[in-house]
Amino acid sequence: MADALVSNGKTVGVLALQGGVAEHAAVLEGLGASVVLVKKPEHLVGLDALVLPGGESSTIDRLTRIFGLREPLIDTVESGLPTLGTCAGLIMLAREIDDSAPGQQSLGVLDVSVGRNAFGSQVDSAEAVLDWQAVTGEITPVKTVFIRAPRISRVGGNVVITAKYRGEVVGVRQGNIIGISFHPELTGDTRVHEELLALV
Ligand code: GLN
Repeated sequence: MADALVSNGKTVGVLALQGGVAEHAAVLEGLGASVVLVKKPEHLVGLDALVLPGGESSTIDRLTRIFGLREPLIDTVESGLPTLGTCAGLIMLAREIDDSAPGQQSLGVLDVSVGRNAFGSQVDSAEAVLDWQAVTGEITPVKTVFIRAPRISRVGGNVVITAKYRGEVVGVRQGNIIGISFHPELTGDTRVHEELLALV
């Protein structure tokens, strides 16, 4: 269960250009964190952690470049800020996108390749309970939903697999970075956000 005291006083940025921003903000505030909506590079200053939400990765990519956030985001994540990317946010973090939209770029900070739209159609999202491997090594169930979610098709040497679904990798951790294909913010299961806050 959430221990609000654990995360009290932490400031978490949520990239707020497109996608499931409010849902992540609500979970983080429920855990006792203060949320900053990241729309400009200066909003990245002073954060304890960062969330890249789901949405449409090609749109989020385009907007990060339009708003001058691409390089600051790369620098911030590479500087070691605890970062969670969910679904399109995972695609943004990935080193390679197997089937990118025309001109689509990713930040390239997480050493995985991803294939887009592998699980859960827009009209028929897939709910599942996955085994999640925490930083502590403990394996616990996490309730999730997949909405046109990516699969992780390649995992680099420094990347730990934290969750699988139907035999495919859907959760990873590389140092300060957690990348997941699914949406924990829509199920009321706060475990992954708690883990992000525990990395701070
Ligand atoms: N299919 C979307 C993309 O490629 C991701 C969907 C999501 O974030 N739920 O960006």
